[in-house]
Amino acid sequence: MPTFVYMTRCDGCGHCVDICPSDIMHIDKTYRRAFNIEPNMCWECYSCVKACPQNAIDARGYADFAPLGHSVRVLREEEKNTISWKIKFRNGHEKNFESPIRTTKWGTIPSPAELPPPSEADFKSQELAHEPDALNIDSGLPALTPGQLKKGVV
Ligand code: SF4
Ligand code: SF4
Repeated sequence: MPTFVYMTRCDGCGHCVDICPSDIMHIDKTYRRAFNIEPNMCWECYSCVKACPQNAIDARGYADFAPLGHSVRVLREEEKNTISWKIKFRNGHEKNFESPIRTTKWGTIPSPAELPPPSEADFKSQELAHEPDALNIDSGLPALTPGQLKKGVV
């Protein structure tokens, strides 16, 4: 479900523009409010929904999920660390979901610039940057040994 912006709620802060991986959230030059320039190219990642401090972004439901007359309200509740979804069907039925959206507290993830630079050994490692610490795994990631890569090994 692609997103759209309620322009009357938006204050033009630009957080959704900065975070959108598809670069489709733009600020209207005249009204200084955000809008989704190409819903067909929306990844439906909802990063913009989570980033919007004004709760100005909602999802446009697909016809099979919430047909005409529906609404899909998405509410970011920072103090509870949750995203709430309120789905209203055209016959008046409502469904409410609440889901935690991250395991770390809002604003506590350091930026790459704040983390120590990679060492020579890190460049030769199969692990991604800051693994396994970033995954909260103490004992290291399970990895295949070269012998296990031979054909026929299960
Ligand atoms: Fe961009 Fe993701 Fe929001 Fe779609 S849901 S507009 S891809 S941030
Ligand atoms: Fe508007 Fe929300 Fe985007 Fe800020 S993050 S520009 S308030 S839609």
